[in-house]
Amino acid sequence: MTYRAARNRYDTAVFRRAGRSGLDLPAISLGLWHNFGPGHLFEGQRAILRAAMDLGVTHIDLANNYGPPPGGAEETFGRILATDLRAYRDELVISTKAGYDMWPGPYGCGGSAKHLTASLDASLRRLQLDHVDIFYSHRPDPTVPIEETAGALAQAVRRGKARYVAISNYSPAEATAAAEALAAHGVPLLIHQESYSMFDRHVERPVTEDVAWRGRPGAPDRPARAARSLLETVEDLGVGLVVFSPLAQGLLTDRYLDGGVPAGSRASVGHFLTPGAITADYLARARALHEIAAARGQSLAQLAITWLLRDQRVTSVLVGASSVAQLRGNVEARHAPPLAAEEIAAIEPLAVD
Ligand code: NDP
Repeated sequence: MTYRAARNRYDTAVFRRAGRSGLDLPAISLGLWHNFGPGHLFEGQRAILRAAMDLGVTHIDLANNYGPPPGGAEETFGRILATDLRAYRDELVISTKAGYDMWPGPYGCGGSAKHLTASLDASLRRLQLDHVDIFYSHRPDPTVPIEETAGALAQAVRRGKARYVAISNYSPAEATAAAEALAAHGVPLLIHQESYSMFDRHVERPVTEDVAWRGRPGAPDRPARAARSLLETVEDLGVGLVVFSPLAQGLLTDRYLDGGVPAGSRASVGHFLTPGAITADYLARARALHEIAAARGQSLAQLAITWLLRDQRVTSVLVGASSVAQLRGNVEARHAPPLAAEEIAAIEPLAVD
C-alpha cells in the first residue's frame, strides 16, 4: 500500500538551529550506522523509517561505510526512499560521509579530493539521489592538507551534490583549521559531529594541542591556541553540534540493566560494543541513573537524551534504533521537562567516562 506520512508529523516536532546557519534540525535525529544493512529484515527497516517520518524526525544520518557491508545502509535507505519517501524528499535532511575504508588502494579512504569526490558520487548512486543535504569529512586526515579536504567539500557544494558540508571526529584545533579553510572558499562549516553522552564527556574538556596539520610542507605556521573544549569551539565558530552514540550504544538504556546480554543486542554482536562493557561499576551507575529517570517518569534512554539537550550548543541528538518502539520512546524525550538543578547534580557523579 502506498505510504502516506502522518498529517500531524510536525505538530509536536521540536527543531533546533544549527549554529549560525539557516538550517533547523530535529532535536532528535535518526542514524543508520547499525541495523540497516542487508542482514536485517527489510520490512523492519522500512517501518523504522516510516515511523521517523511520521514523528517529524526529518534528519537521517548515513555514511558511505554503514552496513555491513559498507554501502549497505545507503542502498537500503535508497530503496525505501524510492518506494516510500520520494514525495517527501524536500522535507528530509539526508547526510552522508566519507573518510573511512571503502575500497582497496590509496584512494579508498582518507581526506584526499580523489577519495571524497569518488565516494560522494558512489553514495549518491546507492542512495538514488542527485544530492545529499550534508556531506561530511568523516575523520581528519593529517596526511592530507586540510585545504585539499576543505576544497573537495566546497567543490561538492558548487557541483550541486551537497547543500552543506560538515566534519566529524575532528579535535578543536582541527575543526578550527577546517572552518578557516572552508571559509576561504566561501562555504561555511555547518556541523561538527562528535560522540557525547553521560558516559563520554570528552567534548566538555579543554584540549591543549598543536594544530594537527602543522609542520606539513606549505602549512601556515599557526600560533599556539588557548585550550578550548569542543563545545566551546563549535560555539566560537558558529557551528552546530550533532551528537552521536548518545545512549552509549545502548548502555544508557534498559537493554543491559539486569546484567545480561540479550540475543540480537549490539553487545551480543560484540563488534563495537562488547559484553565486557557490562561491568559491576557500569551496572551500579546505570541502575542509579535509571532510578533518577523513573522518578521523572522517564526511561533511562529518555533521561540520557534530555541530559544532552540541556545544552543549547547541541543541535541534534543522533540516536540509533533497532525497532520502532525504541525510536518512538527515544523521540518522546523532546517533550520532557528540563532537568532541575538538583537532578543535574544527582546525575553528575554517575555521568563519568
Ligand atoms: P545510540 O547510542 O543511540 O545507540 C543505539 C543503540 O542503542 C540501538 O541500536 C539499540 O541497540 C539501543 N537502543 C536505542 N534506543 C533504545 C531504547 N529505547 N531502549 C533500548 N535500547 C535502545 O547511537 P549509535 O551508536 O547507534 O549512534 C547513532 C548514530 O550516530 C549512528 O547511527 C550514526 O548515524 C552516527 N554515528 C556517527 C559516528 C561518526 O564517527 N560520525 C560514529 C558512530 C555513530 P540494539 O541494537 O542493541 O537494540
